[in-house]
Amino acid sequence: SKAALFDAENKVKITFNDVAGLDEAKEEVKEIVEFLKNPGKFTKLGGKIPKGALLVGPPGTGKTLLAKAVAGEAAVPFFSLSGSDFVEMFVGVGAARVRDLFKQAKEKAPCIVFIDEIDAIGRSRGKGQMPGSNDERENTLNSLLVEMDGFSTDSGVIILAATNRPDVLDQALLRPGRFDRQISVDKPDIVGRTAIFKVHLKPIRLDSEVDAKKLAAQTPGFAGAEIANVCNEAALIAARKNKEKVDMQDFQDAIDRVIGGLEKKNKIISPEE
Ligand code: ATP
Repeated sequence: SKAALFDAENKVKITFNDVAGLDEAKEEVKEIVEFLKNPGKFTKLGGKIPKGALLVGPPGTGKTLLAKAVAGEAAVPFFSLSGSDFVEMFVGVGAARVRDLFKQAKEKAPCIVFIDEIDAIGRSRGKGQMPGSNDERENTLNSLLVEMDGFSTDSGVIILAATNRPDVLDQALLRPGRFDRQISVDKPDIVGRTAIFKVHLKPIRLDSEVDAKKLAAQTPGFAGAEIANVCNEAALIAARKNKEKVDMQDFQDAIDRVIGGLEKKNKIISPEE
């Protein structure tokens, strides 16, 4: 069915307040919000608004969240699709899906088109092995390039794409007029983790001893997604014990559990270690 081709959200509620840390990345995407809200201001002097930007960084660092916040701040629709969905697709479907997405995006402009895991579509020939037909992936990539080249910069469609493997991307995607801007979305340092904890502690009923800074100190290497996970686990652990409030011990247990989960995941990915 058509509905399954991609996701569309007309009213995005996420704003920059929901994105903690990532100060530099936020500064860079603020420019895109300005482009969407007031394109005339930028094209007046003959400049061209960029068509897209690539968000580069490890899993769970907030790339999707940041892209959504751009749509939320600019109050424009958010269209999204994930590159990994294309891997299992039948011949011809991927290219058709890309065309359909851009057709709808242009109708709803100004808007954001978000392509998660673009490396699954945009891998250069011969690099890495993905299941599924390579020809089919190349057809999809070609249709994406054709679409990107086909709309003018004043169409009001801005494409954000995310990857944690910029090294494998086909150079054609990075050419001027395509994804010629890269924005780093890195794992947070202790200051960033503190800020992310503060966001995710907000809805939780906390014991007065719970301290975002201490939690950040205990979670080196955690990405935002893992921090969100810790906060949710802690609340569930405390609830299971019929506690009235979530305390530091619950957070400690949640951190241990999330670390355990990460170790298991790494073992599955690299069994030889
Ligand atoms: P992936 O590459 O795996 O798709 P991603 O970089 O797109 O990951 P998100 O899906 O945006 O990561 O993050 C997952 C969840 O983790 C978010 O919905 C949010 O709850 C939390 N999160 C991640 N980063 C941040 C952040 N900087 N501030 C607040 N919450 C965050």
